[in-house]
Amino acid sequence: MRIGVIGTGVAGSLLTELLAAAPGIIVEAFDHRDPGAAAGTGLNLGPNAMRALRLHLPARHAAIRAASLPWRRWTVDLADGTRLLDIDLLDVAEEAGVRIAWAELYRLLRAPIADRTRQDLELVALEEDAMARLVPVLRDPTGGLLRPTGFDLLVAGDGRYSALRRLSVGPPIPTQHGLAMSRLLVPDAADCPFDDYGQWFNGNARMLGYRLPQGAAYITGALLLPDVDSEIPDHFRSPDYQRAVLLPRDRPACPAVAWMVGQMTAQASRQHWARLQSAPMLRSAAGGRVLFLGDAAQAMVPTLGQGATQAIEDGVLAGLILGRGGSVVEVAAARDRRVAFVRDFSLAASDTMFPPCDPIAGTRAKAGPDFLAKLRRTYTDIYDRLG
Ligand SMILES: Cc1cc2nc3c(=O)[nH]c(=O)nc-3n(C[C@H](O)[C@H](O)[C@H](O)COP(=O)(O)OP(=O)(O)OC[C@H]3O[C@@H](n4cnc5c(N)ncnc54)[C@H](O)[C@@H]3O)c2cc1C
Repeated sequence: MRIGVIGTGVAGSLLTELLAAAPGIIVEAFDHRDPGAAAGTGLNLGPNAMRALRLHLPARHAAIRAASLPWRRWTVDLADGTRLLDIDLLDVAEEAGVRIAWAELYRLLRAPIADRTRQDLELVALEEDAMARLVPVLRDPTGGLLRPTGFDLLVAGDGRYSALRRLSVGPPIPTQHGLAMSRLLVPDAADCPFDDYGQWFNGNARMLGYRLPQGAAYITGALLLPDVDSEIPDHFRSPDYQRAVLLPRDRPACPAVAWMVGQMTAQASRQHWARLQSAPMLRSAAGGRVLFLGDAAQAMVPTLGQGATQAIEDGVLAGLILGRGGSVVEVAAARDRRVAFVRDFSLAASDTMFPPCDPIAGTRAKAGPDFLAKLRRTYTDIYDRLG
């Protein structure tokens, strides 16, 4: 069986690594290596991603652990430092998550599949050969077009703006949630007053930050848009507006918030802005000849840090199933209910960033048994239906 993988980000790299070792499968991967907006930032991977890797790709688990910091705690405070929530991830998971630089994660995932990957090739069209196999049409940097031998299965690992999804079924219509998110990587964060993953609320406006390896730190701010479908207004990018929304008016900010707002306003032009959005889930197309994984299948809100985390689960579980001769239908059975649960939970966990939710009461509720049971399910239950 010939399997082609478009995109060697998170899901595509892991899938390719597992299929390369599977008997009876020829796998080829293609990537146009767009560094993208995310490549210069950090991310946190949930304990469930590490569990999937530990059980099925231990070498990748070890490499990621070695290149990252552990994500052990999740704290939530008010902007003045009043503590609202403190979760030890080991109370709801088998192991800690990780904090890692994007570029480092990609490097570690792509290294083992270098001999299976053809780089600098962008999927631009889709054709079919006389055997009804799908032929990706790939453009090289000179504009030349490459048509590899047809594939029995083409896998979309090409992310949120998946060309394979667009070409096979049309682009997904995203749902906007009415929130602007700014992200900043601080390369030299020696004076950063916090370490592990924390969130800080000023009203419904929320800051998030954590340290990364090699003395860096990663900061995000989430600001409510005037309307659910609004574009990001220009004044959101101004230091004065950010100070007004993120700093408490009537009392001093705690050192963590003062530091983050100081960094964001001093480096306002380096912030990367995006709107909080999600896309409808889709697992397969073209009569089962196209399989969607990761963001190509299920772009979700980033609130619980489950985007890349689910892409890891996707890549590993699809690799196990297809590698032993299983079908796209089996991949869907193993993944769709699980992904739907994580997507819904990620959206529900975003409640405190939206009025009329009271961020104090809403955050304290996250220490309750219902939220913690869902968090435990998210962090441990990677096999929904894997026969
Ligand atoms: C700034 C930012 C911060 C984030 N933080 C977190 C976080 O903390 N935790 C978390 O779990 N998730 C986070 N996410 C979400 C995460 O980025 C995605 O969910 C994850 O990268 C999806 O993985 P993927 O394998 O589906 O696609 P990607 O990792 O996006 O990889 C797609 C690959 O496809 C290639 N490609 C794209 N188009 C083509 C084409 N036409 N032809 C050939 N190749 C193509 C690209 O070069 C890339 O290699 C964040 C996202 C952003 C933008």
